[in-house]
Amino acid sequence: MRAGQAFARKVPSGRAELWKAGRPRLARLDLELTERCNNDCIHCSINRPAGDEEARRQELTAAEIQAVLEEAASLGCLSVRFTGGEPFLREDFETIYLGARRLGLRVRIFTNAALITPRLAALLAKTPPLERMEVSVYGMTAATEGAVTRNPGSHEASRRGIELLAGRGVPFVIKGAVLPPTQHEVDRLEAWAKRTTGLDETPGFAALFELRSRRDDEAKNARIRKLRLTPAEYLSLAARRGEGQTAGLRAFVARFAGVAGDRLFTCLADSCCVDAYGRFQVCLALRHPRTVYDLKKGSLAAAVSEFLPEVREIRAADPAYLGRCGRCFLKSLCQQCPARSWAEHGALDTPVEYFCAVAHAQAVRLGVLDEGEAAWTVEDWPARVGRPAAPAKSPRNGEPAAQPSCEGG
Ligand code: SF4
Ligand code: SF4
Repeated sequence: MRAGQAFARKVPSGRAELWKAGRPRLARLDLELTERCNNDCIHCSINRPAGDEEARRQELTAAEIQAVLEEAASLGCLSVRFTGGEPFLREDFETIYLGARRLGLRVRIFTNAALITPRLAALLAKTPPLERMEVSVYGMTAATEGAVTRNPGSHEASRRGIELLAGRGVPFVIKGAVLPPTQHEVDRLEAWAKRTTGLDETPGFAALFELRSRRDDEAKNARIRKLRLTPAEYLSLAARRGEGQTAGLRAFVARFAGVAGDRLFTCLADSCCVDAYGRFQVCLALRHPRTVYDLKKGSLAAAVSEFLPEVREIRAADPAYLGRCGRCFLKSLCQQCPARSWAEHGALDTPVEYFCAVAHAQAVRLGVLDEGEAAWTVEDWPARVGRPAAPAKSPRNGEPAAQPSCEGG
């Protein structure tokens, strides 16, 4: 096989220079291929119209993406996630995808499946992504799915795409979202997803919707706020998963409960993101100017080795935050984080009341908080969660998420 045609990469052993301590290292990379989408979902905080020429012109080219992927691979990256918007809107998707696979990268694709063609399904069957694709499905009928996607014909197109994937044996999972037009379909969607994927796993449902992290569309944010479940509704959704889910959450809290003080970045994720325009970010939802690095003016290695450590050292300064979140043992259970604080308040360190209420309701349900009690006033939390007082651990990428996360795609 000629060089450049292989779809596997020899990764140096643990003793090799690449993995030595002190070297910049990146295990996983999220790539937002485009913000544009064929749908216009009522809850989406990301999408721009499919035909938005200005957005398209600014997107990284396939060659620029290839350069990012090559640099990521040289930093030890083994896996890349293609997300959007809708990644398959890119006419050069095939080139980008094969470029990643030729580097030996595993590829995880987030999609709504509506743009999957027989050719794309054949490509994914012949050169498998090596990670299960994640397909978002927003309804069980043309009427309900259309009410979410605001794109007539999206239901039929999505089902066609899913059939193509299934017909070619391309592994995928299905995800949903709990929204007013489709809330009554959760059971049906779960049963259908299991039949369609052949997996016994219950699909994940987005429910705690995020606001737009670009902070440029207050009308969109107002609409998203209205779609959010109340804490009580969220609890009853979680309760559907039964005692197993509750026990898992209790174990998660026992393991990761802790007080972070002024440390804002308690997540020790070894993955990073690059947005559709070549901006390196800690995560896709965090677009505060202090946390964004323009790759067109630097390199991925510099972003990982110099910029990222600086971001992780940013400390909270807002007294309201320090007196609440800084003293709160529920931080690992709570969706409040610098990204959500930025999207809601334009700062990195402001408590987010909605996520605070959801976390408190969950803690009451788990029996680690009394009704009406504020988590940041609780001093005997180690006994309540069932472990000795010790420095807080931080969830790493790959740890079970305390809550389903919401993301477009
Ligand atoms: S539960 Fe409230 S106080 Fe605790 S971390 Fe979340 S937002 Fe902050
Ligand atoms: S939620 Fe997904 S499918 Fe819907 S508009 Fe956003 S990116 Fe597109």
